[in-house]
Amino acid sequence: MSRTPVVGVLALQGDVREHLRALTACGVDVRPVRRPAELAGLDGIVLPGGESTTIDKLSRIFGLRDPLRAALDAGLPAYGSCAGMILLAKRVLDGTEDQQTFGALDITVRRNAFGRQVESFETDVDLDGVAGGPVHAVFIRAPWVESIDDGVQVLGAVVPPGLRESKIIAVRHENVLATSFHPEVTDELRIHRYFVDLVRAAS
Ligand code: GLN
Repeated sequence: MSRTPVVGVLALQGDVREHLRALTACGVDVRPVRRPAELAGLDGIVLPGGESTTIDKLSRIFGLRDPLRAALDAGLPAYGSCAGMILLAKRVLDGTEDQQTFGALDITVRRNAFGRQVESFETDVDLDGVAGGPVHAVFIRAPWVESIDDGVQVLGAVVPPGLRESKIIAVRHENVLATSFHPEVTDELRIHRYFVDLVRAAS
């Protein structure tokens, strides 16, 4: 398409500015989204890292929950990092009792799976479809993907510190992408570019 895509960032809490900056660097027009009317005309949306329970609650208070769910159901391309991955997942383990998600991705995530804030870590990870060598990935109280349903593609996995088996930390299903880590807090733009390519192809 010739028009510049417009990509929203759900701007209720979390790494909003960081995603807006990364997306701008990828050549799209950006829009913070706080109100239902701001969903109109979007070509894609990012759900940032932050705190999924807070973003969930605020989305209900701001009346965004149902319209955003509807937009995702209708196929709006989406990318979620960390808390955003939790918010996109259909099922959450170790969530709070009343925690809800937007359910756009047929995966089960385990919230805070890598441990507490002090157990945050960084590592380099190879991701399918991301050329140019491993991506430097920052994990902050991150979820991992416990299981995936048919059709969900695993893009990457890491062996968490202290464990032996690897855990899935990046997935894609059609135009929905999610990572356990936060590319928005590093200079890494390849994940945002990957998402922007999905958005351009879908528009
Ligand atoms: N543990 C957070 C949650 O449940 C996610 C942490 C993050 O986004 N850095 O939302």
